[in-house]
Amino acid sequence: MPDKALSVPPVAHGPDETAPGPWAKFALHLPWLVAKEGDKILSPLLSSLHQQSLKRELVLREDINWSGNAFFLSIGESLRHVEAIYIYMTGDVCVDRCDHCLRGRGIFPLCVVNQQPGAPKDCANCWWKISSRKRPCSFTGWNLSYEQQLQLYNITPAMREDICQLLAPLKNTITTLNTRLASARALEDLRTNEDSRKALKAEAEAVKAAFNDLHTCFKHTG
Ligand SMILES: [Zn+2]
Ligand SMILES: [Zn+2]
Repeated sequence: MPDKALSVPPVAHGPDETAPGPWAKFALHLPWLVAKEGDKILSPLLSSLHQQSLKRELVLREDINWSGNAFFLSIGESLRHVEAIYIYMTGDVCVDRCDHCLRGRGIFPLCVVNQQPGAPKDCANCWWKISSRKRPCSFTGWNLSYEQQLQLYNITPAMREDICQLLAPLKNTITTLNTRLASARALEDLRTNEDSRKALKAEAEAVKAAFNDLHTCFKHTG
């Protein structure tokens, strides 16, 4: 729960954009355990968003019938939720909404993306709901054609060749790692056995060595 001095304000619902109000002010305190440990903000993204000026009040889509308190608790479920409310408060409204927002999904009424360097390309609604099982925001390019992706990232086909060359050692290492991981997993089943424990350790060392090689390789190409 927030500090005793802080009380959770009621949350407004609706499609309208309003200037930062009671919820924005409340959120500035970051009263969520997932977001802050003492004075330390727990993600570089949140720390950067927290320093940006707020452009709008936090409101919920009309059919999300949460009270202020329910909203507060839901934000506190994950650091990503806290980041999402900050993307919503600090970003720019996209008139051409992403697929998710266009379908009328998400907790926020507007499709908002923070364009600052280092911020994700996902809109606040997608950042809120994203997990490994779900698709990222359509703004990240997951559903674009190859040509559209090149355009989105300003990549020419020649640059793509360069990138592929640069990434070749990474691809090799990933292949090696996959093989090593498979044998490590097989060994783990026999964990009670002293020999297999030693072999597992050797596999771990080999993986470490592969990463070191990769690091050296990138230092030279970079
Ligand atoms: Zn969106
Ligand atoms: Zn989106």
